[in-house]
Parts: sequence; structure tokens; C-alpha cells
Amino acid sequence: MTRAERQAALEQIASEVRSCTRCRLHETRTLAVPGEGDPSTEVVLVGEGPGFNEDRQGRPFVGRAGDLLVRLLGSIGWRREDVFITNIVKCRPPENRDPQPDEIAACEPYLQRQLQVLDPSVVVTLGRHSMGRFLPGARISQVHGTMRPAAPSTGAADALVFAMYHPAAALRTPAIERESYDDIAGVPTALLASRERRAGHVRAASGSDATEPSAAPAAPEPVQAPSEQAASPAVRTDRATGIPAVPVTAATAPTAPDAPTDTDQLTLF
Ligand code: URA
Ligand code: SF4
Repeated sequence: MTRAERQAALEQIASEVRSCTRCRLHETRTLAVPGEGDPSTEVVLVGEGPGFNEDRQGRPFVGRAGDLLVRLLGSIGWRREDVFITNIVKCRPPENRDPQPDEIAACEPYLQRQLQVLDPSVVVTLGRHSMGRFLPGARISQVHGTMRPAAPSTGAADALVFAMYHPAAALRTPAIERESYDDIAGVPTALLASRERRAGHVRAASGSDATEPSAAPAAPEPVQAPSEQAASPAVRTDRATGIPAVPVTAATAPTAPDAPTDTDQLTLF
């Protein structure tokens, strides 16, 4: 898909979300919040659901949690417009209560379609509800800061899922805020790992890599980070040509991800 085609497909989903009545959350919303970001990004962030400010503005993560999210992204040299940001449910649960299972299920097709269009390399889950959608049964205290292959049924056909605490939890608890900075420092590494893994899958699909397994295991194990990959890779913004890995900021100018990655570990999956 070209960038323009992805943009049009995302706008189609967004317009359906804005008039959606599939669950009771439509009754109390001001504006639905479909999500926003770069249609060519490799990284999708998934929060829980809109809060007060998001409901008023129709945009994700524009309140205090959003401010922290922007600072977290800034700590790895990325801006919010370089990624795509959305939520598990697109309408605000009243009083910011947890989204209920039937509401999550009703809203799921939108996120699934967004992920099919974006085909991200990395899905960053923010908080327990988002994690639960991608890593059922996982405990956030154990998996935060780590990555696992996404089940293709999520819509992300070939992505690594990277779990983080919700920024609102980080706002409440300084220790979680510190852990969130530590965790997000691992996201560029996850992106490099996922690029390697996807390149391996392309080789396997074209028959030139006989060692690549054809199916993901049912219960994915954590993917180990490639070693010595501390530098932030740019979020590629031109997948149509696949060529320029455009730096997100001047500070992350391409120190080329050409260091060897540990493909032995990565091709386990
Ligand atoms: N919290 C979320 O989970 N999502 C938002 O969009 C804002 C706050
Ligand atoms: Fe529709 Fe999702 Fe909003 Fe429910 S939360 S009304 S399913 S867009």
C-alpha cells in the first residue's frame, strides 16, 4: 500500500469510528477518538481509552498522560507525530472507569483494521488493558519492558509487541515513571529486532532462507534484544521505496543499524 492509500484507509476507519454506535460508550461520549499519527510509521502505541480531554478534543493522549507520553518519546528522540497513537476503545468510558469486556470486543475490529493497514513492526502497549489484548494472561509487572511476537489475529501480521506501563500510572507513582523511562529506551531496540525478523520472514517467503520457521509457536517466548544496539534507529517514514531511514530528529541521525544483530535468537520465532 502506498502512503496515500494507507492514509485513505485510516481515514475511512476513523469516519466509521466517529459515528459508531456498536457499544454503550457512544451514548456518553462527546467525540470518539479514532487515533492519529504517521500513516507510514513502523510503530503503533495503543492506550486504554480516551479520558476527559481526549473526549473533548477527539484526539488521543492530549491530557497530562499525553504530556508524559510525549516526554517519554522525546527521551528516545521521537515525536508523537512520528508514530501512530490509538486506544483499545475509541470512546471515553464514563468517569474514566475501566472499559468492559463487551465494549473492548465491540471496538476491537477498528483496532484490528488500523493494524492491518499500518502493518507496524512494533506495537507498544500502554497499560494492562492494552497488554491484555496482545499478550493475554501476561502480568504487566513481569512483562513491562520486554517484547514478544504479536498474534497475527490482532491485525498486526508481523510485529513485536512491547509492553509498557500506562503513563497515567507513571504520573501517580514515581517509581513507575522511572521504570517507564527505562522501558521506552528499549523500544528502538525492539524496532531493530523487528526489522531483522521481518526481513527474515520476507527471505523465508521467497524461499531463499530454508531455516526460517513458517509458523509462529502458539505460546510465544520473549524475544531477546539484539546485542549492542543502543543507538536509536529512525522510524522509517517511507516504506513505499523502503530506502531512506529518515531520522526522527537531527539527534537521531542514522548511525545506520548495520551492526550485526543476533539473528540466531531472532529467527527462533
Ligand atoms: N489514556 C489513554 O489510555 N488513552 C488516551 O488517549 C488518553 C489517556
Ligand atoms: Fe463504537 Fe468503539 Fe465507540 Fe463502542 S467504543 S461506540 S465500539 S467506537
